[in-house]
Amino acid sequence: MSDDKPDAPANAGYDEWADALAEGGYYVECANGHGSLPPRRVCPECGSRELSAAPLPETGEVATFSEVHVAPSGFGEEPPYVTAIAEFGAVRLTGIVRGPSDRDIEVGAPVRADVADNEATGDRLVVFRPV
Ligand SMILES: [Zn+2]
Repeated sequence: MSDDKPDAPANAGYDEWADALAEGGYYVECANGHGSLPPRRVCPECGSRELSAAPLPETGEVATFSEVHVAPSGFGEEPPYVTAIAEFGAVRLTGIVRGPSDRDIEVGAPVRADVADNEATGDRLVVFRPV
């Protein structure tokens, strides 16, 4: 992970943000300390436009998860798979759990955020790897 912070995180698109996630990642923090993702131009909590990039914590904690047995069409992930919301400090991320123990995921489990390509759509996919 490099120490270079993007100059204008609020102007970064989702793909740029997802690419950065593979190398540690960042989230957007406003002058009042509200974290938000994905990057946007205005803090969704207080409307502040003074946004800067803060490094994403190395590991997050699973807040909730669910096993998906029927995938939305074109999603590109073979069911069953597990989606989860994990808390990384001030922000929450939604992603797919991948790893040797993805069937044993539980609330509070530590995960690392990573990024993978959705082969069906070409979009970036947030992936959680149990640690
Ligand atoms: Zn704010």
